[in-house]
Amino acid sequence: MKIGIIGFQGDVEEHVDMFMNISTEKNRDVSLVKIRRKEDLKGVSGIVIPGGESTTIYKLTKEYEIYDEVKRMVLENDVPFMGTCAGLILSSSDTADERVTGMGILDVEINRNAYGRQAQSFIKDINIEGMGKFTAVFIRAPIIRDPGSCKVMAYDVGNPVMVRSGKRIGLTFHPELTHDLRIHEYFLNIVEGGGSVSNGSYEIKVGVS
Ligand code: GLN
Repeated sequence: MKIGIIGFQGDVEEHVDMFMNISTEKNRDVSLVKIRRKEDLKGVSGIVIPGGESTTIYKLTKEYEIYDEVKRMVLENDVPFMGTCAGLILSSSDTADERVTGMGILDVEINRNAYGRQAQSFIKDINIEGMGKFTAVFIRAPIIRDPGSCKVMAYDVGNPVMVRSGKRIGLTFHPELTHDLRIHEYFLNIVEGGGSVSNGSYEIKVGVS
């Protein structure tokens, strides 16, 4: 299966690495394409918008006509989608910020930078439904102020931090900054039309910058 990662800014390489590791370690047939032109989206069976700076990713995806095409593919063709942090903001139905319009592919309302500035970033264990303990890296994370019709898969002190709606998942944290492959595997299982992953915990790959 071919996974497209919106490739302008943010944790692009980190997502590529996660899927490559799954491909080699778990012997799964997955190829990656970084999306920088609308044509790059042709033939992808899953789309990821990484963490980064949502205002920048918004601007560039609009300018290169990727924004509307991703929205169309997910809404009309039900192409599976994963958004982490800034990617979640872009997929939301309301960002409470006129600089970033959400695609409305996940029915969640977001407050950007709700924990404070970069220095208020943190790493914390959370509990994900069906997966168990997961070490979550929050970097200038948004808060999901209303999960709407989405199923909440994990909370941090009462705030939803991972949601799912059909073939779409959204996270306020960064699994791509750990060695823990389970969420990426979970997404590949969605792309393949399947279900669960194994339990286990992993170490953190990089520091919070
Ligand atoms: N604060 C960023 C934004 O609003 C998101 C942070 C992230 O993706 N780590 O775009």
